[in-house]
Amino acid sequence: MLNRPPFPMLTSDPRQARAAINAARFTGRRTGVVMTMGALHDGHLSLVRGSVAQNDFTAVTLFVNPTQFGPREDFARYPRGLDQDRALLAELPVDLIFAPSVDAMYPEGFSTYVEPPRVARDWEGAFRPGHFRGVTTVVLKLLQILPADHAYFGHKDYQQALVVRRMVTDLDVPTQIEVLPTIREPDGLAMSSRNQYLSSDDRTRASAIFRALELGARLVREGERRRTVLATRIRHALTEAGITEIDYLALVDPQTLVEADELPAGGIALVAARVGNTRLIDNRVLDATDPVLPS
Ligand code: AMP
Repeated sequence: MLNRPPFPMLTSDPRQARAAINAARFTGRRTGVVMTMGALHDGHLSLVRGSVAQNDFTAVTLFVNPTQFGPREDFARYPRGLDQDRALLAELPVDLIFAPSVDAMYPEGFSTYVEPPRVARDWEGAFRPGHFRGVTTVVLKLLQILPADHAYFGHKDYQQALVVRRMVTDLDVPTQIEVLPTIREPDGLAMSSRNQYLSSDDRTRASAIFRALELGARLVREGERRRTVLATRIRHALTEAGITEIDYLALVDPQTLVEADELPAGGIALVAARVGNTRLIDNRVLDATDPVLPS
């Protein structure tokens, strides 16, 4: 505490960010990075706390990455609030905030992208074409700028965590990927920057996603493993609560994200649904006997 300045260093310059983390690494400090799109909430802050607990130096990135948004998605209206994010991070405390401009990350002439792994193909990958290509590209770029020992991701974006893990393995990136539990509102709704879009009616309805996933977990605890039965019951719980625009409800193997007739060991439910104008995603390990990543 005594050695830390009151506010974390803030830079938008990739070279300055790399110099700062390298200065820490070259003096033998363990380093962690948390990548976010800003509009920070307790879900993000739990990742930051995880990094602060495990490392001597923590960097947080704030960057609304245009390449992971589709043309009809919410890039332009995605919430942004650097001052509030800085104040929240100052309390933790963090050592470095990297908040680049779009031009700094994608300057004139930029044209190299990372082809995402196989596990990116279905679910979010199918409903958001190009999304994971944007994610893998920006995550690899950020890990080149901030070559930390550990990078922290949320279970909330489960498929994303698998995609990133596979990418760092396949591309020999030495950073270790840590996946931390989903942080929820008191009624169970997974925290998300996009929850701000929900009207108060939508906000009430949105908590049914958590309850439907809980129902799935209870049915599995009671011995049900047939995918169609589980999927029908979970889907019914959603529609009963007024959540009818379901992009997907998938009961999958926790490593391959492939569906089978019987729920596999460690089986997980992935869901994406629209509540009002807001698209929400969530997931829950249904078969808690053998979780692959902590839930
Ligand atoms: P985002 O700013 O939405 O791109 O999220 C940045 C990181 O925070 C990702 O690794 C997310 O999985 C993680 N995250 C977002 N929401 C939550 C949450 N409710 N609980 C835990 N992690 C989260």
